[in-house]
Amino acid sequence: MRNKVIILATGGTIAGVGEDGKIVGYKPGTLTIDDLIAATPKLKDVADIEALQICNINSDDITDRIWIKLANKINELAKDLDVVGFVITHGTDTMEETAYFLNLTVKTDKPVVFTGSMRPATSISADGYMNLYEALCVAVSKEAKGKGVLVVFSDCIFAARTVTKTSTYHVTAISSSGMGAMGIVRDGRVYLYASPFKCHTLESIFDVSKIDVLPKVSILYFSVDANPGLLEYAAKSSDGIVIAGAGAGEFSEAYKSIVDKLEIPVVVCSRIDDGIILKENLLCDNTVAADNLSPQKAAILLRLAIACKVEKSHLQEIFTKY
Ligand code: ASP
Repeated sequence: MRNKVIILATGGTIAGVGEDGKIVGYKPGTLTIDDLIAATPKLKDVADIEALQICNINSDDITDRIWIKLANKINELAKDLDVVGFVITHGTDTMEETAYFLNLTVKTDKPVVFTGSMRPATSISADGYMNLYEALCVAVSKEAKGKGVLVVFSDCIFAARTVTKTSTYHVTAISSSGMGAMGIVRDGRVYLYASPFKCHTLESIFDVSKIDVLPKVSILYFSVDANPGLLEYAAKSSDGIVIAGAGAGEFSEAYKSIVDKLEIPVVVCSRIDDGIILKENLLCDNTVAADNLSPQKAAILLRLAIACKVEKSHLQEIFTKY
């Protein structure tokens, strides 16, 4: 029996069209998933494909409604016994955010594999076709089952929790910085060397089947002379705050005096991409340490925790576990 994989397409540079051969000045989210599949005949050797165009946009226009729609769609389609896995095509700018959101909200051990590209489909040596092929190979592999949401890019396999965009132009722009890749793909074969240890998918408590939107969480980036008025304003118009602090999550006395008075949840991360914030690092007792989550991923976890009514007193536990 052949394996069936569902490709859910959202747009991005992988579906981008520009001046023939060029790599800048193109329009992301232009080709349909059917165009991409037709241009990559090798995909048919790997699996039976069903393609769904969820949206066709630049990934900077992804919203919480699209995240929830994707999670619920995958949860429904995963019940089909013929489906062995999922591939999601997505722009690279926010791919790490959508991947981490689904890592916390899909309830299946079937592989859910993100991919995209740095060069538009019309450029010389466009990377999207190979990335799509390799993502499909990972989606049908037994090795990828139960490993949480994955991202396949430039022959490497990354975990949703650690993956990030590290360059604005390299074809290897998607990586896991200091944490490294979980594995690699060579000629369609999957080689895995690591497994994610934090809670994901089937073990995750987060259920978005009955919600349409997420609470609002604002990210405040601290720097010398950062305006405390912005923090006050953000706190008034948000359900939670994430602070990207300097070094081990630090900020000025002016910031601290405002944070001390906040009643909404405040999570502290670092603006440095390689680091860990522990409870002992915190300057204010009413804040939560984000472990080694980036600010954009901490915001997702906080939005889900607020949406799923996690008590403030349990937030630290959640940030240690996920
Ligand atoms: N701006 C594009 C996007 O995120 C970039 C990319 O896909 O590489 O949709």
